[in-house]
Amino acid sequence: MQLVNKIPEHILSYIKEIGKEADSLNLEAYLVGGIVRDLILNRPCKDIDIVCIGSGIELAKQSSFKIESASKVAIFKNFGTAQFTVQDLEFEFVGARKESYRQDSRKPIVEDGTLTDDQNRRDFTINALAISINKNNFGNLIDPFNGVEDLKKRTIKTPLDPDITYSDDPLRMMRAIRFASQLQFSIAEKSYESIKKNAERIKIVSMERIAIELNKIILSPKPSIGFKLLYNSGLLHFVLPELAKLQFVKEKNGVRHKDNFYHTLEVLDNLSKNTDDLWLRWSAILHDIAKPPTQRFHEEHGWTFHGHEVVGAKMVPKIFKRLRLPLDGKMKYVQKLVALHLRPISLTKENITDSAVRRLLFDAGDDIDDLMLLAQADITSKNERKVKRYLSNYEILKVRLSEVEESDKLRNWQPPISGNTIMETFQLKPCKEIGIIKNAIREAILDGEIPNEYEPAFEFMKNEAAKLGISVEV
Ligand code: ATP
Ligand code: MG
Repeated sequence: MQLVNKIPEHILSYIKEIGKEADSLNLEAYLVGGIVRDLILNRPCKDIDIVCIGSGIELAKQSSFKIESASKVAIFKNFGTAQFTVQDLEFEFVGARKESYRQDSRKPIVEDGTLTDDQNRRDFTINALAISINKNNFGNLIDPFNGVEDLKKRTIKTPLDPDITYSDDPLRMMRAIRFASQLQFSIAEKSYESIKKNAERIKIVSMERIAIELNKIILSPKPSIGFKLLYNSGLLHFVLPELAKLQFVKEKNGVRHKDNFYHTLEVLDNLSKNTDDLWLRWSAILHDIAKPPTQRFHEEHGWTFHGHEVVGAKMVPKIFKRLRLPLDGKMKYVQKLVALHLRPISLTKENITDSAVRRLLFDAGDDIDDLMLLAQADITSKNERKVKRYLSNYEILKVRLSEVEESDKLRNWQPPISGNTIMETFQLKPCKEIGIIKNAIREAILDGEIPNEYEPAFEFMKNEAAKLGISVEV
C-alpha cells in the first residue's frame, strides 16, 4: 500500500502498536484528518489524529501503556477526547461522532456515530480522509468525498452543501481561506460563493478561534493570498476592519495616492520571504494602519498622513485586545516597530549625523535588525531603479549602524549614571530634578557631547546639577 510507505518509520511503529490495541479492544480505528492529508502532500505532520468506533479515551489509555516513552494520557471528558505525546508527536484520540445542528441553537447535539458520520462532520473533502489501522485492513484508505482527487486538483471543497457546513460552524469559512493560503490551493466556486453569502455569521465565532486561523494565514508562505480572499469574501470587514479600511484610493485635483491595502500586503509578502516570526509579520500588517484617520489633502503637497506611525502604534493595543492576542511583550514589540517604521528611511538621506544614527539604535534597542527588515520590505515602488537605490542606501545605513554600535554600545543602553547614584551623590530624596539630570546625561551621550562612559558622565552630572542649584562636596 503506497500511502503506508509514506509514513515515517518511527511513526509507523507507534501506529501499528495502536492498531494492535484497537484489535484487542475490538474497535475499528483510523488515522483521520490532517495527518492523512499531509501524508499525501508529503508535508511533515506532528499531530496524529485517531478516530475509533467506540471509546477513544479507552484506546488512548491502553495504547499509552504499550508505547515506551509515551507521556501520561490527558483526558478531556467533556469532548470525549484523550491525548498523549511521544517525543515531539502528539497523538489525539476521539470516538467517531455524529453532530446535528438545529436552527435555534449553535451547540450541536453530539452522539456516538459511525466512521461515515464522523467524516460527514469534517470541514473539507481533503480533511475527511481516513486510513484504517486495524491489522486485517491496515492501510486501507476511506475517501468518501474524493478528497484525494481534490488534493490533486488543489481544491478546497466542503463535503456537504457549503451553506450547511459553514452555518453549522462559521469558523470553517476562515479555515477554508487558511488552507487556501497555507497550501496555495483554490477554493471551489460553490464553496467560495457560500463564504461570501455567509460571511456575517463569523460574528458568532469566538475571537480566540478566529485568531488561531488568522495567525496561520499570516504564517503562510505568501500571506497576501489569504488576505485577498478574506477581503473579497467580506470576512475581513468583521475580523480586522481596520485593515479592510486601508482599501481606498483617494483622488483629489487629479492627485491619487496608492492603495494602502495592497501596499500593506506587498510589504507583508516581502517581509515573509525573510522571516517566519509571527509578530514581525504582524508589524507589517499594522505599519500603515492609521493612514485612514490621519489622511489630509494639501493643495501644495497632495495627500499626507502625518503622524500615522504614532497614531498606528496607539491603535495596536485595541486591535490585540479584540483579537485576544497576547498583551505582553509581543504587543509592545509590534507597537514599537509600528512607531519606528519610518525612521530608517529618514536616515538614508545625505548628511546624516552620528547623533541621528545613535538615536535610532537607542530607540530600537535589540529590535533594530527586525526594524531594518520591516523598513526594507516597505519599499514597494514599481520603479525598479528606485527600489535598487533605496536598498543600497539601506546597506549603507546598516554599515553605519554597526559602526556606531561598535564604538558607542548603545543597543541595550543602560545609563552609566543611575538615579541612585544621583541621589546618593547629592543626598537627594526622590524628586523631579533627578529625572532632569538623567535626561540631560542621556541627551549628551546621544548627541555625542560626552562618551557613553562613567567618568565623563559623572562630571557632566555635576555640571547639570549645579545649573539646577544643587551641589555637594565630592
Ligand atoms: P493543522 O495542520 O493546522 O493542524 P488540521 O487539518 O490538522 O491542520 P486541526 O485543527 O488540527 O487542522 O483539525 C484536525 C482535523 O479535524 C481536520 O483535518 C478536520 O478534519 C477536523 N476539523 C478541525 N476543525 C474543524 C471544524 N471547525 N469543522 C470541521 N472539522 C474540523
Ligand atoms: Mg492538526
